[in-house]
Amino acid sequence: MQLTIDGLVLRRRPLGQNQLLTILTAQQGVLTAYVNQRGTMASKLSATTEVLCYSRFVLFQGKSGYVVDKADSNRIFFGLRQDWDKLCLASYFAQLAAELCPFDEPAAEPLRLLLNTLHYLEKGSRDMRQLKALFELRLLTLTGFMPDLVGCRCCSEYEKPEILFFPNEGDLCCADCTRESSAVGGIKVSPGVLAAMRHILYTGPEKLFSFVLGEEGLDALYQVSERYLLTQLEKSFSALELYNSCRITQKWEPAITDETRT
Ligand SMILES: [Zn+2]
Repeated sequence: MQLTIDGLVLRRRPLGQNQLLTILTAQQGVLTAYVNQRGTMASKLSATTEVLCYSRFVLFQGKSGYVVDKADSNRIFFGLRQDWDKLCLASYFAQLAAELCPFDEPAAEPLRLLLNTLHYLEKGSRDMRQLKALFELRLLTLTGFMPDLVGCRCCSEYEKPEILFFPNEGDLCCADCTRESSAVGGIKVSPGVLAAMRHILYTGPEKLFSFVLGEEGLDALYQVSERYLLTQLEKSFSALELYNSCRITQKWEPAITDETRT
């Protein structure tokens, strides 16, 4: 049986004489396929089966799974490979998608989300903190981990001057309803950050990437989104740890501002 399908390579690892690809597709979600390293096609396939390549695959059903017969690139995201930070973050997105997206079930929305996020990351037209939080929260929402941000869990108020987000429960409680004992684990979120989180959860795909947040808000969104993700999934991601360690190192480098230039 032969299958022609578009997919983004999330992972590539050696397995005996072969390479095993993990691919995200719209029609079948996550699937795995082997690339034969010894065949005459091996060198031709190397560029179009790299991690983060979006290619049109022709797959054959072999005895132990799909085998890649042909792969033509739709998009290589070359710009991501030339920037260490972007590559780290993109690798984390791929790891997260491999973890959360379903096998053998359609995954058109997660694939679209990942392709669009990689597009903006490559282009550099969105803050990386914004893209990271957006991808995390939206992917969690699409894969069964959607938090409830409609209103306070006690009084149901939509807007309150002080509101806390609870990563464990995935919901909100306003300061008025929060007693000392029930505030454990809550993170204070500003109205701007909460509006951004709601936008990421509830907006349609067309306007998803069009929200603006100040510097402080972006830092807070970055933290709250990551905390929610790690709490819910109860596991660590090597690419995320690498990305965060690079960010910490960079913070110690002297920043070149307009003031120091003049
Ligand atoms: Zn309340």
